[in-house]
Amino acid sequence: MSDEVGKIKIGLEVHCQLTSLATKLFCSSPADYRERPPNTNICPVCIGTPGSLPALNRKAVYYATMVALALNFKLSDRMLFFRKNYFYPDMSKNFQITQYDRAGGVPFATDGYIHLDSGKKIRLGRMQLEEDPAKLSYDGTIDSSTKTFVDYNRAGVALIEIVTEPDLKSPREAREFLNKLTSIVEHLGVSDLGLEGSVRCDANISLAGGRRVEVKNISSFKEVERALSFEMTRQKSLTSKGISIAQETRHWDDVRRITISLRVKEEEQDYRYFPEADLVPVVLSKGFIKDVKSDMPELPKERERRFQQEYNLSGETAQVLVKEKGLADFFEDSAKYSKNAREAGSWLAVDLQAFLNEAGKELADLEITPKHIAELVDMVSNAEVSRGAAKTIFLEMLKTSKMPRSIAEEKGLKVIADSKFVEDVTEKVFKENPKAVQDAVKDEKAINFLLGQIMRATRGRVDPAVANRIVREKLSAVKSSE
Ligand code: MN
Repeated sequence: MSDEVGKIKIGLEVHCQLTSLATKLFCSSPADYRERPPNTNICPVCIGTPGSLPALNRKAVYYATMVALALNFKLSDRMLFFRKNYFYPDMSKNFQITQYDRAGGVPFATDGYIHLDSGKKIRLGRMQLEEDPAKLSYDGTIDSSTKTFVDYNRAGVALIEIVTEPDLKSPREAREFLNKLTSIVEHLGVSDLGLEGSVRCDANISLAGGRRVEVKNISSFKEVERALSFEMTRQKSLTSKGISIAQETRHWDDVRRITISLRVKEEEQDYRYFPEADLVPVVLSKGFIKDVKSDMPELPKERERRFQQEYNLSGETAQVLVKEKGLADFFEDSAKYSKNAREAGSWLAVDLQAFLNEAGKELADLEITPKHIAELVDMVSNAEVSRGAAKTIFLEMLKTSKMPRSIAEEKGLKVIADSKFVEDVTEKVFKENPKAVQDAVKDEKAINFLLGQIMRATRGRVDPAVANRIVREKLSAVKSSE
């Protein structure tokens, strides 16, 4: 098994919309196409009526430069746009304006990389800027459709396409890679990846010596790991029966969670690329690149380092927190409101993650706020509740969104520091355990048994410091009376 896994090759092609732009890539139609009546967010340029001329969105180039630099890409000196010709209703012009990577053309940038947590380098072959096609809706499922609807509102929205080398060795690595990429893009603020359809992924996978299978249009990053795991199992089982894998393109059905063959590829499709004569070559000036660099926000890697220094977090905790910008922001707010940032980090990186994994939820699905975490952290720091009780409160808080202090009061989980109460309990425990008391008088170490009995009698609600003091007082009284 592990031998075969070592020979798996996975490559990804990620399309990501620059949703932070006000307008589309080549015209002034709004980039914000969602929730508009079909075919109302269009103009002659994005649907390509005769005589219309594209004009490159300067801000899109700016954002793409930011992404390229953050992903360690080399920017091309002179970028060209090409027409990718094809006939399909999602592109009314019958071509897509994109950037070609062969035969003299140059993409936006080449030779980038991302490091995984293990330090492994995933090479990014190229990155390009292109326009999104229209959105097609099928009447019914893929195989029984009779009608197809087309909505051009999305046509012309700016996309960046990032293509990895086949360096990924498992579906899990693919997921980790996508999480890293997502976090970087989110930190840059160029795209809201939470928006429906803002990121799409194609994946190709081949087993040892096998042919390459491409899985198209995986709608969310979470589905990528599933789709790849399915493909891996499917290909292995065919291979073990002596059936060879066809080079083909498959579709991921995220409802049935299987891949379905779309077409078996005989050869590469010929898109007849040719230069887009309506657009001039793009040359990024040194000044422009300098401006982008100086505007670059803090990236996950830098934030991880800062979290360790500023909040005294462990490297592991900081690493988990920056995996999602939303979580990292949530942590910083919690740290602002609480006395112990390190504790807040640990609740979010360990306990919260465990809960989310088990419940199959995301932080955004919960209704808790940073103030919830801060209050819980402070209650533990102030010894208002025991650590064990805090875990109970934490889970209840995630489920009900009630504030931790009110949960503690409702459930009677607050620590009792009242000396009189602790004295009474201690006396009772001493009476019930005369032998242990004698042992403790002789040997300091035996005191833990008595403390344990006190905790047990009060379900851990007694303040340990108070209990410790009272037990010692009572023991020395016993000693002096002997
Ligand atoms: Mn593309």
